Amino acid sequence: MDRCSFIFKPFLLLLLVLIALASNVNASLLNSEERAFIDRHGPISLAVMYDFIPFSFVENGQHTGLVADLVKLLENKADIQIKIEIDEWANNLRKLEEKEVDAIADISYRPNRAHFSLFTTPYFEIPTVIFTRADFGGYRGFEDFSGKRVGVLNNIFYLDLLKAVPGIDIVEFPDYEHLIKAVAFGSIDASIQNLTSAQHYATRHALTNIRVAGEFRIGGVGREDLRFGVQSELVIIHDILQKAMDAITSEEWRQLSQRWTDVVTLERIKQQTLALTPEEREYVRQNPVIRVQNEANFEPYNYNENGFPTGHSIDLIRLLAARVGLEVEPISGHTWSDFMQMMAQGELDVMMNIAPNESRQEIMAFTGPYIRLAQAVYQHKDQQPIQSPEDFIGKTLALPDAFYNYEFFKNQPDIQVIPTEDSIAALILVSTQEADATLELLSVANHLSTKYGIPDLRSNSLQDTRFGRPIPLHIGVRKDDPMLKTLLQKSMDTLTEQEKRELQERWISRTHASAHHVHLTREELEWLDQIPALRICAISERMPYERIDQNGQYYGAIADIIEVLTNNAGLTTRLSRQPHWQAALDALENNLCDFIANAPSIDGHQPSVSITSSYYETPIVIATRQDAFFINNLDQTKDQTFAVLAFSEIETLIRSRFPDTKLVSYPSAEAGLDAVRKYEVFGYIDSLPSLGNTLNRSGRDNLKIGGQLDIAYQFHFAVQSQHQLLLDLLNKALLSITDETKAQIEQRWMQIAISKPADYRLIWQIGVVALLIIIAFIIWNIKLAKLNIRVQRANTQLLEVQRELEIKNRQLEQLAITDRLTRLYNRMRLEKAFEEMIDESEKSGRIFSVLLMDIDFFKRVNDTYGHLCGDAVLTDIASILKGHCSANATLARWGGEEFMVICPDMTLDEATTHADMLRQLIADHQFPDVGSCTVSIGVTQWQLGDKQKSLTLRADTALYHAKEQGRNRVCALEAGQKA
Ligand code: GH3
Ligand code: MG
Ligand code: MG
Repeated sequence: MDRCSFIFKPFLLLLLVLIALASNVNASLLNSEERAFIDRHGPISLAVMYDFIPFSFVENGQHTGLVADLVKLLENKADIQIKIEIDEWANNLRKLEEKEVDAIADISYRPNRAHFSLFTTPYFEIPTVIFTRADFGGYRGFEDFSGKRVGVLNNIFYLDLLKAVPGIDIVEFPDYEHLIKAVAFGSIDASIQNLTSAQHYATRHALTNIRVAGEFRIGGVGREDLRFGVQSELVIIHDILQKAMDAITSEEWRQLSQRWTDVVTLERIKQQTLALTPEEREYVRQNPVIRVQNEANFEPYNYNENGFPTGHSIDLIRLLAARVGLEVEPISGHTWSDFMQMMAQGELDVMMNIAPNESRQEIMAFTGPYIRLAQAVYQHKDQQPIQSPEDFIGKTLALPDAFYNYEFFKNQPDIQVIPTEDSIAALILVSTQEADATLELLSVANHLSTKYGIPDLRSNSLQDTRFGRPIPLHIGVRKDDPMLKTLLQKSMDTLTEQEKRELQERWISRTHASAHHVHLTREELEWLDQIPALRICAISERMPYERIDQNGQYYGAIADIIEVLTNNAGLTTRLSRQPHWQAALDALENNLCDFIANAPSIDGHQPSVSITSSYYETPIVIATRQDAFFINNLDQTKDQTFAVLAFSEIETLIRSRFPDTKLVSYPSAEAGLDAVRKYEVFGYIDSLPSLGNTLNRSGRDNLKIGGQLDIAYQFHFAVQSQHQLLLDLLNKALLSITDETKAQIEQRWMQIAISKPADYRLIWQIGVVALLIIIAFIIWNIKLAKLNIRVQRANTQLLEVQRELEIKNRQLEQLAITDRLTRLYNRMRLEKAFEEMIDESEKSGRIFSVLLMDIDFFKRVNDTYGHLCGDAVLTDIASILKGHCSANATLARWGGEEFMVICPDMTLDEATTHADMLRQLIADHQFPDVGSCTVSIGVTQWQLGDKQKSLTLRADTALYHAKEQGRNRVCALEAGQKA
């Protein structure tokens, strides 16, 4: 099963659509008039349906479907905005008619709508079809519905036409979902509706008992065209929408329709179901089993392998029979002429691989040919080649006694015919030169000579002669059973070329597959020598995995695996029939068998048993009622009870893996499913192929596959845990089975069981769940990506703001520490500088001195020249200080007209000299307007133990002295020195 591609195809498509949507901006599509109109008009309002799956519907509160995607595409193409208004169909139509919206989606063209609507070209055409239940019988035309109830949508446009048909009871429904359910549940006999929507709902609700009876045609009504309808006055909007639609590329259209509608086509649905007439159905009911001739040695078409009927024609007849509900019973152990006799006496129903001739036509009817096989003449390589019919003269011919040409050659006077039991015998006679030649089908002779190593054969085509023409093979049916022939022919007619090819490849490719020899150790060989046969515990009925029928024949996927494995390893086996897994386990533990063919992954839970590596894996699924929610985890549904097949391998697995889950065991799968239907349990758990098989057999009314467990079912062989030798041997033998062989076996059994129509839906269900999860995942990721972009953008913005803030803060800081007028440090900043300076000096002993300066008679300056002139003096003095103090000095405005200077590395004397220099500079300075102005300065040096307070106090004292002594002077004061 290629589940990956199933899941990823939609995933890729979705991406493509998203990419297409994102990359198709075409702003120049509209002309200036249209652009101007749109600018004036604003968004185009479009009425859409809420329930028209898959075209236009609401999911999670969002408008979605083909129309939703198309609208996005149109918006991109024309650079317009479309405003969606979601409502039911009848309202939408009224809104268009009453001009409440500009346009409407999903409208079909009708002449009587033309007076209120302009139509775009259709964006989709859906066939209108008739759905019936599968058991309705053949549908030949509307007259079949006489006296029956036929459902349609409220006010659908062909309602009047339909009402004109006499004798039909028309029932109207509000939406497509109710309509299709009404058919499935039997309240109406048929429904007329568009294929795509109906199929969508049928899939969603696993309504598997319905089928398409035919395409609906009445009064010229056929396909339902979906278009945009636009208010009749709004020609320009119509033109814009049409233009935008025309701009959509064919690739975009393809993606659009593939994304939403590719799942269903009429052809496909018709193929899946085969309509039977009531008579045919009755026949099948009364004669459910057909007896089919089974040849022992017509490899690879029909032969017995280890006693089991197998080959191309066995698969073919099983496939054909299954399609019409018949079962095949192979009849073995007879010669060809016996079979002919039985056919004539009504003891056999069908002969396969048969070419019609006159005598055969007397006892049987033939279907059309299903295959044409080339034949050739086979000789020993040393013999003269036979190239024409004349070359047969005088020759000895070995022929199977029932062979197509047997009678003809037998009656030729110059040719001696040796009858043989089968084709192998004839080929061997030729190889050993006991006969000169044989005629045989190319594929058969190739297969047999390779498989049995018949040496020295040479073939020669007689293509151009009557002996060499390809032989068309037919199915022969008892002459007195014409209905059976009709049924098989009908079934054969539905075979696709693909199916025919697959069937052929399966068997012809087998002929070329070389055996994979398993090397056994001496120990293993000796052990095998000791035992008569390997005893296999097999379950009598667990299809499609395994089954032992009343003749002791072993069928199924596991049977095939064991067959290949035993061939590869040269093992002899014997079956031990067990009713179920638990019984098999008991039998193994009591040494009644050597290994169990199908064991779950129970390592550790069952210490007495060891399992081999897994040879297959399949999903474990849950069948629930149709109305149940999908589940994917048993732990999520702890309060629910589940049914499981009693004593089965799946029960053991679930109980060991999910010990908290409430499980109820039922004696059969059918009983378990019934319990689901009757609300006794929430769901029935089984591995997918087995559940598929059961649902196919017993019907699935009201059921669906409602979930898949997050663990898979793995197939193992189980042996007694002390039996290491056998465990190794089986593991080794399992390794010899190629993946190709496994795939073939899987295809043959697991897929036949799940490839019937309903089972596509099984996979569909799971696919849909997976798809929904993936879509949710993608949407989540897109959201996450968007969120990330937003977060990133916000982060960038934040960084910018932060940078701005830093600048502003620095400015603010500057402002905070600077005196506005003089641009010197303010008092606060000065105090900090003081602290740092004192700290440093206390630690390192660095000396410093401070100057405290006060302007003399400044009050007078202000009073005389005004405050502004006073300010100017303050700034001038600050400039003088800045210009004449060293870079490491701290200059600050101490108060109104007082300044402080901290002078690192200056002794008291040095600072005094410096202060006097400053005093002199200021005294000499000509202040604008004010003229001259002087300052007094107190100086002191820091001493160990000085704090800011003591230091400034001393400086202040020194200043006070300077003032006292007459101003315009410097006064120094040492620590400890009294004023
Ligand atoms: P002294 O020589 O004794 O220091 O005399 P003075 O006038 O300078 O003394 P006083 O402390 O009495 O006066 C200080 C004056 O300084 C008072 C106030 O008007 C003036 N002043 C203080 N701050 C400012 C200022 O920012 N701008 C101006 N223009 N004047 C200020
Ligand atoms: Mg003062
Ligand atoms: Mg002063």
